[in-house]
This record gives sequence, C-alpha cells and structure tokens, in this order.
Amino acid sequence: MDLTLKTSVQYVPRVGPVMAKRLEKLNIYTVQDLLYHVPFRYNDFSLVSPISRVQPGETVTVAGTVTSIKTFYTKTGKKIQEARISDETDTLTVIWFNQPFLLRLIKPGMEIRLSGEISWFGNKVVMSSPVYEIKEADTDQSLHTGRIVPVYPETEGITSKWLRGRIDFLLHTVLDYLIDPLPEMICRSHHLMTLQRALACIHFPDSPTTANDARKRLAFDELFLLQVRSYTERRNWEKIKHAPRCIVSAQDVQTCIDHLPFRLTNDQNKAINEIQNDLSKTIPMNRLLEGDVGSGKTVVAAIAMYMVYKNGLQSILMAPTEILAHQHYETISTLLTPLGLHVGIMTGSRKSPSSADVLVGTHALLSDKITLDRLGLVVIDEQQRFGVGQRAILLSTSADGHTPHFLTMTATPIPRTVVRVMLGNVDLSVLTNMPYARQSVKTWVVPPGKREAAYLWIQKQIDQTHGQAFIICPFIEESETLATVKSVKTEYERLKKIFPTLALGLLHGRLKPKEKTSILDAFRQGETQILVSTPVVEVGIDIPNAMIMMIEGADRFGLGQLHQLRGRVGRGLLPSYCLLFTDQDNDQTITRLKAMETIFSGPLLADIDTKLRGPGELFGMRQHGFLGLRIARFSDTDLIDETRKARTQLTQYDPDLTGFPLLRAAIEKDTIMAKITD
Ligand code: ADP
Ligand code: MG
Repeated sequence: MDLTLKTSVQYVPRVGPVMAKRLEKLNIYTVQDLLYHVPFRYNDFSLVSPISRVQPGETVTVAGTVTSIKTFYTKTGKKIQEARISDETDTLTVIWFNQPFLLRLIKPGMEIRLSGEISWFGNKVVMSSPVYEIKEADTDQSLHTGRIVPVYPETEGITSKWLRGRIDFLLHTVLDYLIDPLPEMICRSHHLMTLQRALACIHFPDSPTTANDARKRLAFDELFLLQVRSYTERRNWEKIKHAPRCIVSAQDVQTCIDHLPFRLTNDQNKAINEIQNDLSKTIPMNRLLEGDVGSGKTVVAAIAMYMVYKNGLQSILMAPTEILAHQHYETISTLLTPLGLHVGIMTGSRKSPSSADVLVGTHALLSDKITLDRLGLVVIDEQQRFGVGQRAILLSTSADGHTPHFLTMTATPIPRTVVRVMLGNVDLSVLTNMPYARQSVKTWVVPPGKREAAYLWIQKQIDQTHGQAFIICPFIEESETLATVKSVKTEYERLKKIFPTLALGLLHGRLKPKEKTSILDAFRQGETQILVSTPVVEVGIDIPNAMIMMIEGADRFGLGQLHQLRGRVGRGLLPSYCLLFTDQDNDQTITRLKAMETIFSGPLLADIDTKLRGPGELFGMRQHGFLGLRIARFSDTDLIDETRKARTQLTQYDPDLTGFPLLRAAIEKDTIMAKITD
C-alpha cells in the first residue's frame, strides 16, 4: 500500500498491529511520528579495528567470522555466553551475560560485526556485552556497528536496534517524496542543510557535527513554523474578524474606578489602558492578562466588562470550574451591581436569564448553545490551553458577523521564551506588583523521615491558632481520573485517624457541583479544619483563614503549579506555611523542590522549571507533543531569536506568503505532505 506521513505506523512493513500498540507508549502513531522519533544520544562505534590491534579501554568495532559460541556457568552460577571471532589478524573472545538466546541467533561460520568495549575479564582481554550485527549476504551496509549509532527512547518490547531497522527503512523509502516547506532563501541564509539530509543525518550521522547540524535544521523547522503559524493567525484575525467598537470616556472609566474600595496598582492601570485601547478598535482584542494569584486580574476584567456595558453590549466570563465560577460571580456582582449592571450566573446547576449584562459560567458555556445577540467581550479565566477556547467561539461568531473581544486571564507564569514563540498572535498585559504586600509563605521540603513530626506540628498549629490547612494529593494519572479519586479517598480516611480531634473535608473533581460548593462552604465557615483535596483547588480560591498548605507527592507537580497552590494560603493575618512532601530522595528532585524554599516569584520559578523540565510540565500538560515540539527546546533562546528574525524577514518581503505555497500548506495542514510507496 501507499504510505503517507499520516498513515498509521502499523502499515510500515514489519511493524504490524502488535508493535504499533507498543509504539503508542512512545507517542508514535504515524509514519511521521516514527520518522521524527529522534535519538537522544549516539554510540560512537565508528572506530573499526583489526582484532590484533584492539586495546583494553577502547570502544571499537571488529568484523570477522564466528568460530565458536557456547554458554558456561561461573562459580556463582551466572550464565555467560562466550563466542570467538576471527579476522585475518587474530582471534577475539567475546562475552555476554545471561543472554542464552544468542546461541540461537549467532552460529559458527557466520560473518559478524561487533561494537563494544574491550576490557579485562580475569586475565583475558575480551569484548564484553557488545552490540552485534550479522552480515547480510547482499549488503555491506551496517546499522548497528561500525558507525555512529543512534540510541532512541525505548519502551517495553521496542529496542533501539528494532527502531533503527524500521527508521532506516523509512529513510530509504520516504526521503525522495518529502516536500521541504522551508523557503530556499531561508535555508541558504541560515546555512541549513536540506530536510532530506537532516532527517537522514539525525538518525545516522557520519560525524557528531553532522548530527548537530541536522538537529539544528529540524529544530529550526519547528520553531519557525510555529512562528509563521502564529503570524498568519494574527494576520487573519486582523483581516477577517470584525469586532464591535467600544468607546468609553475617561470620565466613565473614572466613575467605575472610583467605586472600588481601593486604589488600583500601576500595573492594573496600565492593563486597563491597554484594554480600553484594544476595545476601541474593530480588530477584536486578543489579550492575555497574566498575574500571580491575588494580583488583581478579576478587577481589571470587571472594568473591561463595564466598558463594554457602557456600549450597550454583554460580556461573558468563563471559569474552569464551578467553584471558581461562583467565586467570580460573587466578586463581579459586588463590583458591578452597584453600577447598575445585571450580573448572571450560568452553570450546570444554576441558570440566569441570558439578558444579563454580564454572564459568569464555566467553560461549558462554550458548548451550551447560548445565544447572546449583544455579545461584546469574552473573558476566559485560567485557560490552560491557550487558543482552544478562542477557536471554539470564533467558529460561532454571532449572527451579525461580529466577533467579540477576548481577554484571557492566567496565573500561570509563562516563561518569556514561550511567550515569544507561541504567543506572537496574542498581546500581553502583566501584573507584576501585588496590590498589597502578601505574607510570604514559609516553605519546607519534608523528607519521608519527618512525616510524623510534620503531622504533629500541623495539629499543634491548628490547635494554637485556629487556622486551617489544605492537604493536596497529586493526580495519580494525568488528570483527575477515578484512580486519583480513589487514592484521595483512601488518604482522607487515613488522615482522619491521624487527626482524630479535627474535622476533615474531602474535595475532588468528581463530586457534584452542589457537593463541592457545600464542602467548600463548610471549610470557609471553619466547620472543617482540614480540607483534603486533589489539585482542583489550585486556582483562585480565597480562604483567608487557611494557613497551611501541605502537598503530597510534590515532585509530581511543576514549580509553577506548586507556587499557585502555595498562593492559596498566606491570604489572611496568620503566619502561613507550605509543606512539600515527597517520597523521592534523589538529589535532583530535592534540589528542584528546594527552589520553593527560597524563591517566591512565580515567573522565576517558571523559568527554573522550564530549564529543568520543559514548559509542558509547567502547564500541567505532558511535555511530549507540547505545541508539537519534538526536537526544539524553549530554553534554546539563540535559535528562537534566529527563527524569529527569519520569520520577520520573510513576512516583510511577502506578507501573505503568496510566493511560498508549500510553507502555507505546511502551516495549514500542520504537516509536511509526502507520499511514500514501499
Ligand atoms: P486575581 O484574580 O489576580 O487572583 P483578584 O482580582 O481576585 O486577583 O484580587 C485578589 C484580591 O485583591 C481581591 O480580594 C481583590 O478585591 C483585591 N484587590 C484587587 N486589586 C486590588 C488593589 N489594587 N488594592 C487592594 N486590593 C486589591
Ligand atoms: Mg482570580
């Protein structure tokens, strides 16, 4: 059959459904995924040596004929396979440990190549545990020996050796059909090798330099395409979308601000100005408002809603959870009702009439076919996947052809490099200064041995101060699955025995909205002292009497996420504490977590985490496939700058990319097209 890059990998010859299933563990589903499964390192087996010349300590490749192979037992009962290999210069002993099946694969008389380290075994010079490659009759080519050999991320039943064979097959069948979307002028001016050569060389380089150049070319592609895509999105947005112009007088804005019980910070004022300016245009606003928990984003959003209201239009605010929707509803009502606005709420359990000036709800508002004929502004709170919500709403542009303005709020600190690459199509307002000095939350990483002491300490704190505590259990799987709920329930039962004199509440995402609200209310009223919860409390919840944040399995969280959780305490007058529990005791984990003890800036922690773990973790998503980056890294600022320049040069020269149909196709189809035949 004809293969294309998008064909399921099972149709690649000698893959089949069983191997395809295993490949899923490596996130390989298609031909393209396999082709772009790049090595994480290489073994340099390029030194080929006559047997008479090998030296202990060397990593070499030898080629010869098998003269014998057998299994013997050591005194301690271990199985060792020993083969003897001869070339025209000498004979070499080769050993493997406990690989009896080799006797079925390697037979005397076979011509073989072996790559591995030469060492002493007793008083003998041997090659131990080498990679072997039996010479095929019809070819002199070798994949696993005698060259720089790729080592891939592996999984059960999928070895690098197997991957090499299949990838080598693809390289021989697909390369000629691959279409390179990168404009030639860019390849030339940035000294990039061709796509064909890059793919061949990243898998089977002839030197370390070639491997590096290949990696650079492929990383360049990823970052460049991402930026061209975001440029095109922005351009289309500006050209095609038409928003209602909202103009407010300085006087009106001032009236709104005067109603607030506090003075706005400079950052808030600046953000409000930026929003006011955006709203006055017919290009729909697409702005991200970033600020730590408590930095006053909601207030800014409320003022934006007021501006829209003054133009006779409606706003909706979407929160990620019902709890937050209710909290926002309270806040927004308090701020805007006195100014004459009707604020409504729309969740699974509560519905207000759609004639409200401001409608607060969950992201489910998107799927509910609400029809607001006067929709002017959509505010999205804590959207984890930027763009997803916008796209959904864009599809449902209102009947009169207008697109609303968009404001997205997030407390997730976004590393600067990410902003530059992925958010080229979004404008950014950042609230860096907090409205009032928040208490700094004393933070400790608690090793396994101190667990009991920590429980006693928590009990004492609560007894003495009448404060309250959160105990957060991590997601067992990637999201709030049943396994997570089960484990948090078990933990809750266990904790009830540890704190018999205290009242405990249990909160998780699988509860009904009403149950959640009542559990949270009980905690807010102080009826329960400890709230055991999954990370659903991560965002936005404001309970001033909460003074301890204890996090189980802290190593499973990104630092940005831990910082957000920590932001749930220290909101009142009590001295506040964050205890990070981990069962891990490796240095890297501890060092990473210890950053929390001394650093209290979200953006700084986020930057540290991007360096250590990549931004995928930061956003609470799996790193793999984040924005489709397989090869490039967000920490590679030089390449980001270079691709950014390349993008600007190209679009200045040809803003609509009319001269680059392949590039346009690559962006639209999100892939490079190819037809492969086997
Ligand atoms: P965020 O949404 O960024 O977490 P909020 O807008 O909910 O923050 O504000 C957090 C708290 O701080 C709220 O109680 C809010 O009323 C208060 N607040 C906001 N801006 C200011 C300010 N400039 N001065 C004092 N308090 C403020
Ligand atoms: Mg908030």
